Amino acid sequence: MSSTHHLAPSPGSPRFRAFTPRDLDGLLQRVSLTADQRLALRAVSAVLPFRTNTYVLDELIDWTAAPDDPIFRLTFPQEGMLPPPELRRMKDLLAREAPKAEVLRAAHEIRMKLNPHPSGQLDANVPVHEGQRLTGLQHKYPETVLVFPRQGQTCHAYCTYCFRWPQFVGEAELRIATDDIGTTSAYLRAHSEVTSALITGGDPLVMSTEVLRRYVEPLLEIDTIRSIRIGTKSLAFWPYRFTRDRDADDLLRLFEKVVASGRHLALMAHFTHPRELRPPVVREAMRRVRDTGAVIRCQGPLVAGINDSAEAWAELWEETTTLGAVPYYQFVERDTGPQGYFGVPLARGHEIFRDAYSRVSGLARTVRGPVMSAMPGKVCVDGVAEIAGEKVFVLHLIQARDPSLVDRPFFAAYDEGATWFTDLKPAFGASEFLPGLEPG
Ligand SMILES: *Cc1c(COP(=O)(O)O)cnc(C)c1O
Repeated sequence: MSSTHHLAPSPGSPRFRAFTPRDLDGLLQRVSLTADQRLALRAVSAVLPFRTNTYVLDELIDWTAAPDDPIFRLTFPQEGMLPPPELRRMKDLLAREAPKAEVLRAAHEIRMKLNPHPSGQLDANVPVHEGQRLTGLQHKYPETVLVFPRQGQTCHAYCTYCFRWPQFVGEAELRIATDDIGTTSAYLRAHSEVTSALITGGDPLVMSTEVLRRYVEPLLEIDTIRSIRIGTKSLAFWPYRFTRDRDADDLLRLFEKVVASGRHLALMAHFTHPRELRPPVVREAMRRVRDTGAVIRCQGPLVAGINDSAEAWAELWEETTTLGAVPYYQFVERDTGPQGYFGVPLARGHEIFRDAYSRVSGLARTVRGPVMSAMPGKVCVDGVAEIAGEKVFVLHLIQARDPSLVDRPFFAAYDEGATWFTDLKPAFGASEFLPGLEPG
C-alpha cells in the first residue's frame, strides 16, 4: 500500500502500529471496567470509528487516570457517544453474538440517524467544472478550496468527537475524496479568485511524501494560489512523521520547496489538549517544520470531558505560542455524530473562551472563537450582552458564503442550552439575523 508506506520505519525508528475495534477488548484490560461497560464500548465502536496507535497508547494516555483521562477519551469510545436506545440495540446484538450482517445493518441505520453530513457538506459546497461535480473538493468561501486526497482519508488515530467520522466507517456514499489531480488543477486555474488551497482529510500526512507531492507540486504551477495549507493531526498523533519516519526528511524538503516558490505554507495543526504538546518528540517535530519556513497554526474544538476548561485552553494557547506556532480557531463541536455527548452549550463555551483568552499574552490572542462552521459560514460567538432590556448573544461571521455578510455584528436571543447555530433565533423578535442571514 503506497499510501501508507512511510509508516515503514527507518532502522531505530519507533514502529507505527494501528489498533482497531478488533483490538479494543484487549486494550481495555488495562482499565478497570465491568463486563457490561466493556460491552458498551464495543457497541459504540461498532458504529463510530475507533483507531489508536502505539504513540498515543504509550506516550499520551495517562492509564492511571483512565477511563476519565482526557487523552484516553480522545481516542477511546465512551458509552454516552450513542443515544441510549441505539446503544441498547447494539449492545443486545453483540451480547447475543448476532450475525455480522445484522450488526452491520444496525450500525448503518444508526449512523444515518446521526446527521452524517451536517451543514450541507455533501452537496452545498461541491464545485462543478465543465458540467462535472468535483466531489473531492469543497468550495464554500470564494478564496479557499478544500482538497480531499483519496489516499489521505484516514488518520494516525481517530478523535472520538470527529465531525468527519463518516469518512472512516466504510460507508462509501458518505465519503468525500478525489485522486483527479488534473481536474482539480483545471478548476483552480479557471477560478482565479481562489488564492488558498487547503489539503485535508482524514489526514493528508498519512500519505507518503511521494503521494503527497503529487497533490502539492501541481499547485505550485498555478500563480493565483498564494497559500497552501495542510490540515493535520499528525503532530499530536504521530510526530515521528516529521522526525524519524523513512520519508520525514523528504517531507521537509517538500515544505521547503513550497516556501521557496514564494507561497505561504501553513500546517493547520489540530491540537485538543496541552498534554499533546509535552513529549519532546513533538517539540522536535515542530522545530523541524518551522525550520522549513512553514507556519504552524493550531486549531481544535471545545469538547466536553476532554478540554472544557479555561485552564486547558490557556495552557494550550500559551504553549503553542511558546513553541513558535500560532493559535487560529477554537471550534464549537459540530451538529453531527456524538455531538450530544461532546457538545458544550454556546453560552458555556464562550465563558471558557473568554476566561482562557483573558489569561494569555497578546501573542496568543490570534485565536478566534468559539466558532461554528455552519451553513451560512463561520459564525463566531463574541459574547453575551443586554441590549434594550433583552439578553442576547452577540455574533459575527468570520467567513460567509455571501461575503457581504462578513464582520457585521448580529444578535440572537440568549438561550443557555443552545449548542449550535440552528438552535438560535434572532433577537428583538426579528425574522432574520441580518438582511440575507436567516435562522438555520
Ligand atoms: C474553515 C473553512 C475554510 C477556511 O477558512 P479560513 O477562515 O480561511 O481559515 C475554507 N472552507 C471551508 C469549507 C471551511 O469550513
